[in-house]
Amino acid sequence: MTLADKIFSFAKKNLRLSPFFKAGFYLLIILNSRLVIGQVKPFFKSPDGYELIATDLHIHTVFSDGSVWPDIRVSEAIREGLDLISITDHLEYQPHKSDIPHPDRNRSFEIANAAATKKPLSVIRGAEITRSMPPGHINAVFVQDVNKLLFPDDPSAGIIEANKQNAFVFLNHPNWARQRPDGIAKLDPLHEELIGKGLIHGIEVANETIFSDEAITIALENNLTILGTSDIHGIADWKFKIPEGGHRPITFVLSEKNESKHVKKALFEGKTIVWFKDLMIGKEENLLKLLKANISVSRITYEKNEIIAKIILKNLSANPLNLKYTGIYTFHEDGSVFIIPPYKEKILQVKTLSRKKSLALPFEVLNAVIGAKEHLNLTLVSD
Ligand SMILES: [Zn+2]
Ligand SMILES: [Zn+2]
Repeated sequence: MTLADKIFSFAKKNLRLSPFFKAGFYLLIILNSRLVIGQVKPFFKSPDGYELIATDLHIHTVFSDGSVWPDIRVSEAIREGLDLISITDHLEYQPHKSDIPHPDRNRSFEIANAAATKKPLSVIRGAEITRSMPPGHINAVFVQDVNKLLFPDDPSAGIIEANKQNAFVFLNHPNWARQRPDGIAKLDPLHEELIGKGLIHGIEVANETIFSDEAITIALENNLTILGTSDIHGIADWKFKIPEGGHRPITFVLSEKNESKHVKKALFEGKTIVWFKDLMIGKEENLLKLLKANISVSRITYEKNEIIAKIILKNLSANPLNLKYTGIYTFHEDGSVFIIPPYKEKILQVKTLSRKKSLALPFEVLNAVIGAKEHLNLTLVSD
C-alpha cells in the first residue's frame, strides 16, 4: 500500500468520500510531487547585474575517443542543470574511425545542437586540437568550421585558424601526467609565443579529477581566463557520482545575459569561477562577487543580561563554505574554523565584550581559491 493509499483509506473510513474524490485526491498528490521535483535550487545565486551561466567547454563523444552519442551529452547536461556546453572531440585522434567513418568534424556538434533544439541548453561548436607537448592539447570553442582546423603537420596552424574564426582558445590539462610527468603546469617557449601573440585566451586549472595551483599562477600572470571542465569520455553520472550529490567541474561565467554571444564576451573578459569538487576557484574580484551574493548575514541580537552577540550566517549555495575567522573576537560555541553546509545556516555566538549595534566579521574562505594556495578574504557585516 502506498502512502497515498494509506492516507486515502484513512480519509474514506473517517469522512465517507466518493470515488470522484479519490481521483481528484490522487491528481493532487501527483501534481504536488511534480511541484516538489520541479523546485530545483540553483548551484549558486547570481551576483547582482549578472547571470551565472553554468558551462562545460570540454566534452567528448564517439566521434573521437568518447563512449556515447552526442545527444546523450545534451541529456546529461540538462539533467545536471548546465546552461551551455561545447562538444570538443579530438581533431587528430579518431580511434573509432573504422566503425564510425568521420570525414566531417562538425558532425558531433550538429547532432548535439539538433538534440538541444527547444531545450534549455546552448551547444556551441568546438574541437580539441590534439598535439604532443608543446603545445599539448588545446580547445577552440565558438569556432565556425571545425574541418578547417585540421593541420596534422603543423603545431600552430590550427590555433591560428581558430583565431581567424574568432574562437575562444585555451590550454587543456597543462598538468596532465601523461604530458607533464611531474604534474606541474608550465609554459614552454611555444606557449609564451602563442600567448604573446594573443592566440591563447584561457587555461584549465581543473580538468576531470585533476587540479593545478601552478595553472592558476599561469592564468594570473598572463591574464588568461580561469577554466574548469569535465573532459568527460564515459558516463558523467558514473565519473562524477552525480546521483550521490557530486558534480562535474563547472565553469560559471558571469555574463550580462544567458545568450551565447554574451557568454563569449565574458569568457574573453576573464569573468569566470570554477566549481571543482568543493573548491571555488577564480580571480579575486569574481569570487568576491560570488561569495557576497551567496552568504546572507542577519542583524545581531543579545539576550537580556548577556554581552554575547548572536548572528546568523546563511549559505545560499550548493557548495559547503569552509570559513576561518580572522578577527579579534572569540566564539561561544565554535572555534575559529567551521563549515556551513549547502543551503544551511549557522548561528554564531560572538563574545563582543561590550554591546554593539552591528558587527563586521572578517573571514578567510578556505575553499575559495584566488591564487596558488591563496584563499579569499571577505568581511561579513551584520544587516
Ligand atoms: Zn586532451
Ligand atoms: Zn579532451
